[in-house]
Amino acid sequence: MSVVTRFPPSPTGFMHVGNARTALFNWLYARHNNGKFVVRIEDTDRKRHSEEAVQVIMNALEWLELDYDGEVTSQFSHLDRHAEVAKEMVANGQAYYCYSTPEELDEMREKARAEGRKTFYDRRWRDADPSTAPKDVSPVVRIKAPMNGSTTIHDKVQGEVTVANDQLDDFIILRSDGTPTYMLSVVVDDHDMGVTHVIRGDDHLNNTFRQKIIFDAMGWDVPIFAHLPLLHGADGAKFSKRHGAQSISEFKEMGYLPEALANYLLRLGWSHGDEEIIPRDKAIEWFDFDHVGKAPAKFDFKKLENLNSHYINEADTEHLLKHAKPFFIERLGFEPSGVGLERLIAGIDELKSRAKTLLQFVDEAAFYIKDIPFSYDEKAQKNIDESQDVLPVLLERFEEHDGDFTSDFIQETCKDVADKMREGKLGKVAMPLRAALTGTTVSPSIFHAAEILGKEESCARIRAVL
Ligand code: GLU
Repeated sequence: MSVVTRFPPSPTGFMHVGNARTALFNWLYARHNNGKFVVRIEDTDRKRHSEEAVQVIMNALEWLELDYDGEVTSQFSHLDRHAEVAKEMVANGQAYYCYSTPEELDEMREKARAEGRKTFYDRRWRDADPSTAPKDVSPVVRIKAPMNGSTTIHDKVQGEVTVANDQLDDFIILRSDGTPTYMLSVVVDDHDMGVTHVIRGDDHLNNTFRQKIIFDAMGWDVPIFAHLPLLHGADGAKFSKRHGAQSISEFKEMGYLPEALANYLLRLGWSHGDEEIIPRDKAIEWFDFDHVGKAPAKFDFKKLENLNSHYINEADTEHLLKHAKPFFIERLGFEPSGVGLERLIAGIDELKSRAKTLLQFVDEAAFYIKDIPFSYDEKAQKNIDESQDVLPVLLERFEEHDGDFTSDFIQETCKDVADKMREGKLGKVAMPLRAALTGTTVSPSIFHAAEILGKEESCARIRAVL
């Protein structure tokens, strides 16, 4: 069997990390099996539909590098087909027209409640003679759900799950205005798209029993189901806004690399021994359902940050700068180029080894590409103000130096000046130097940084603060 998995988001205007994890698991299972991963936009709610909302989802998939097979399909464009299937089911005796009015349904429910019974539709039209149908009521179509026995799903994650059929009602598959319900649309689309594996959040498990009735009624192959436990926050409650970032765009804006987030989402609820760092190729090779946990996975921002540090440190320059570019533009108003870019690349290893996020990377790299005069943060300014005696001496020593302007020379000079003017406290010289050269008090080794800036630029920056 050739595997086909699917990702059917409702375009709500944002892509939740939980949804992204579902997409990732579907994608990995398809790629692991050399199968197909298809995307279907569940856009039948036209009141809330917008192209921008669809684009948010497509952008998130692209950012996470989850490519799909074939064209993206729109559920809305299949509604006629769904309605046809409903009618076919009526013709086959698997579904029926129900003419009960809303008033009758209310009455039915009230009576059931009073008698302590389930408030399900009482199936009065299930076997009624069609010639008794009222002319002035547009009927809905209801499925003939099995009334006895039980229904069992062999879920790849949850195991065997059974419900008694008396828990399932004759639910509506076609509304009186001729539009299909979600339950029908999903099944027809999954069938028509050849979906073999439905991998989704376990909040859909209850729907699965109803959807199976439709598959069975049409005589269609029932896909294999895998229901993933939902995400929780550290406190064990359902993962929500109060735990922190929720949408893929928020994580992107916080400076996470897509491969770090993808690695983290994979580890959320799936494991391969003790492996924490799982690059994409290994993820494809190793992914299976056997190691998906049954318990809800707790979202841990600290672990994500650790992975992000790792991936920033491993990233090649081109990849890192591509993802850092929007942050440079946001923070500085321009992207690195020319001599600034050359300096940044010369210092990139140290910047990478320090950064937990792309924001930190960009903030610490900024001094390489900024031109004087630039601004000094409060602490830097204080250091500069307190060192108006030290900085001119340092400047003079740098200016009169003829040899290579190396980090060793710069460090030795700072030590010497510290011995003479600051009781040997190197920090009292290195920190104001850092403040003058970077505008901050946080940076990679200032001796390396000064070497990369070069003698001329370093001296110019010191002069600018004197
Ligand atoms: N559109 C549904 C959702 O976003 C998908 C349900 C499914 O996977 O069948 O929750």
